[in-house]
Amino acid sequence: MGLFIGGESMIVVMEPRATREQIDAVVKKIQEASLGTHLSVGVERTVIGVVGDSHTKELLRQSLEATSGVERVVPILQPFKLVSREFKSDNTVVDVKGVHFGDGSVAVIAGPCSVEGLEQIIATAKAVKAAGAVMLRGGAFKPRTSPYSFQGLEEEGLRYLAEARKETGLPVVTEAMDAYQLQLVTKYADMIQIGARNMQNYTLLREAGRAKYPVLIKRGPSATIQELLLATEYVMNEGNYQVVLCERGIRGFDNYTRYLLDLSAVPVLKELSHLPVIIDPSQGTGKRKYVSPMSRAAVAAGADGLIIEVHPDPEKARSDGPQQLTPEHFRTLMSELDPLAKALGRRMQAPLLTR
Ligand code: PEP
Ligand code: MN
Repeated sequence: MGLFIGGESMIVVMEPRATREQIDAVVKKIQEASLGTHLSVGVERTVIGVVGDSHTKELLRQSLEATSGVERVVPILQPFKLVSREFKSDNTVVDVKGVHFGDGSVAVIAGPCSVEGLEQIIATAKAVKAAGAVMLRGGAFKPRTSPYSFQGLEEEGLRYLAEARKETGLPVVTEAMDAYQLQLVTKYADMIQIGARNMQNYTLLREAGRAKYPVLIKRGPSATIQELLLATEYVMNEGNYQVVLCERGIRGFDNYTRYLLDLSAVPVLKELSHLPVIIDPSQGTGKRKYVSPMSRAAVAAGADGLIIEVHPDPEKARSDGPQQLTPEHFRTLMSELDPLAKALGRRMQAPLLTR
């Protein structure tokens, strides 16, 4: 094998019948060279990712190639490693309390932009569940463009989300903007949302990586796909592999929609990465009337799910009113997605009845 081309990293592909002892021996060798390891245990074989930097890497590579149970050592050429398909060829399925992202079905998360009160969140949770949503969303800490806009109910909002989960059984995803909020979010919710504005907050990404909770990471409005994948790498490098990627629109030059929803990110991300990809057509378009067509397009493009804003009375919403659907509109959308998913050989994931 040749030199590493710009490769700080490599993967060790074990033989299909490699034993636990052989795998442990490889891990030990890597760690002795002061490098980090990430194990990917596939159906067929185990792959060991080597990350970090060391001048002894070339020596290590030679030694690993000669180790029993090792089939081959492959440099990873992409700047992102753990998120890449090279590291893990089969799709990752992220499990959030029984909701699955990446198993081939379409999982729909729905709920208001912001949690505004107990009644509002419970009513919305019941309505979206009845229409087929499998998870509840709702912001308690809101990243608002203006400091004078509603900033969220904070911990009180998290308590209301937990109440809504108790009432409906729907697992909850909600945003944290800093390490302190992240601790609170993990106390009350089931999945941490890293918002678009914080996609490159590396301290927060590391914190999310250390939390043993699934993470939903949204692409920044000015971030490239590579930057999104490298941001995700921060989370995974801390040992948290339960990550769902979300495209929510990037900055375009046209004002008819709030952002330019980049649906091509779906096939691109699914080619480059093994992680599930979902679409947020609400932030993506900023206008209610475009949410249904873009949701259908997202499912057709191969998205593993959607995150949609629904409010009992969007006109009175304290944030993002123009893009939130009424429960009735959401029901109609869900009934349109069902036959579409079937025609594509997929299915809509149903809420778990036992919860
Ligand atoms: C949201 O989900 O309400 C939100 C603020 O999303 P984004 O970070 O994508 O703007
Ligand atoms: Mn919003």
